[in-house]
Amino acid sequence: MLLQAPVAIAVFRGPQQVIEFANPRVCELWGRTLEQVFGRPLFEALPEVAGQGLEALLDDVFATGTPHVGSELPVSLDRAGRRDLVYFNFVYAPVREPSGEVRGVIVVATDVSEQVQMRERAETERQEFVAMVAHELRNPITSLMGYAQLMQRRERYDARAMETIITQAQRLDRLTVDLRETVRARLVALAITPGPVDVRSLVLAATEQAQATTEAHTIAVEMPGALPPARWDADRVAQVLGNLLLNGIKYSEGGEVHVRVTDEGESVRIAIADRGNGIPLEALPHIFESFYRAENAVSGSRRGMGLVLPISKALIEAHGGALTVESRVGAGSTFTLTLPYDIPTP
Ligand code: ADP
Repeated sequence: MLLQAPVAIAVFRGPQQVIEFANPRVCELWGRTLEQVFGRPLFEALPEVAGQGLEALLDDVFATGTPHVGSELPVSLDRAGRRDLVYFNFVYAPVREPSGEVRGVIVVATDVSEQVQMRERAETERQEFVAMVAHELRNPITSLMGYAQLMQRRERYDARAMETIITQAQRLDRLTVDLRETVRARLVALAITPGPVDVRSLVLAATEQAQATTEAHTIAVEMPGALPPARWDADRVAQVLGNLLLNGIKYSEGGEVHVRVTDEGESVRIAIADRGNGIPLEALPHIFESFYRAENAVSGSRRGMGLVLPISKALIEAHGGALTVESRVGAGSTFTLTLPYDIPTP
C-alpha cells in the first residue's frame, strides 16, 4: 500500500475558524486550489466535513486545550464528477501562544478507507460464513428430524428412514469436521507432526478407503514397485489424498479415477485424475480459496462448503509441497500434489 501524506489543516481560533494553513494534499483530495482554501472559514471551504460533529470537537479543543485523537469519519468527496466516500481518521492538536492560550488547532486527517474496507470485507465474509453454515446445517437437521418423527409417529422401525438418518448424521459429522479444520487452519499455523511414512502403503490405504465409498467408480493406481521412505505427517497427507479422491468421485458421475505416483528424486508426485464435469476456466484461479464453490458444484446441487481444497493446499504447503490443478470442462480434472520426501527445515 502506498503511504499517502495525511491531510493537515491549521485553523485559527475565532467564530469563523479560518484556515491558516493547509498542505497540498487537501487541495489534491478536495480538488480545490490553495486560494480556495487559505484564509477561508473551515466549514465554508470544506463543507464536506461539516455536520459530523467536528464542529463540537473543534470547539472543545479550543475551549479546553486538550488534544483529541482518533475520530473516524466518512467524508463524501466530489472528485472529477464522481462521489467518493473517503474515511478519515482525525487528530486535533492545539497550538498555543507563549502565554498558554490556544491560538489555533491543527487538524490532521489520515485516509483510512483501505483499512475500513478491509474491516467491512472481513465482517461481510464472517456474516456470509455464518449464513452458509446455518444453511448447510439446516437441510440435514430437517431431514433427520423428519424421519425420526415419522418413526416415532408410526411406532415402527423403518429401515429406509434409518438409512437416511445415518447418511444425514454422517453429513453433519463431515460438516463439523470441515468447520473445525477451517477454524483451526485460520487461527493457528497448521501443526504438522512428521514421522516415517511408507508412501506406497499410504497411497494404497487411501485409495482402498475411497473405493469403499463408491460402486460407480473404479480407482486405478499406477505406482512404482518401490519408493524412498518419507517423513511426513501421515494422517494429514492421508487426509489430503482422501479429500482429493472423494472430490474426484463427487464431481464425476462414474468411470475411472486414476492415481499416478511418480518418483521425482527428491520428491514424489501424486496425480489424481477424474473424468468428471471439469472446472470452468474462470473458476480455476479461485478453487483453492476458502468457501469458493464453482458453478459445476452449485448447479449440480453437490453439497459442500468450499473448504476441502484450501485446507488440503495448506496442509501440503506445510509439508513444503505444492498442490496444483489442471482441468477441462467435459474432460475432467487432475489434481497433482508434489511432496518432498523430507519436510524442508525452515
Ligand atoms: P466443495 O466440494 O465442498 O465445494 P472444495 O474445496 O472441495 O469444496 O472444492 C472447491 C470447488 O472446486 C468445488 O466447489 C468445485 O466447484 C471444484 N472442484 C473441486 N474438485 C473438483 C473435481 N474433482 N472436479 C470438478 N470440480 C472440482
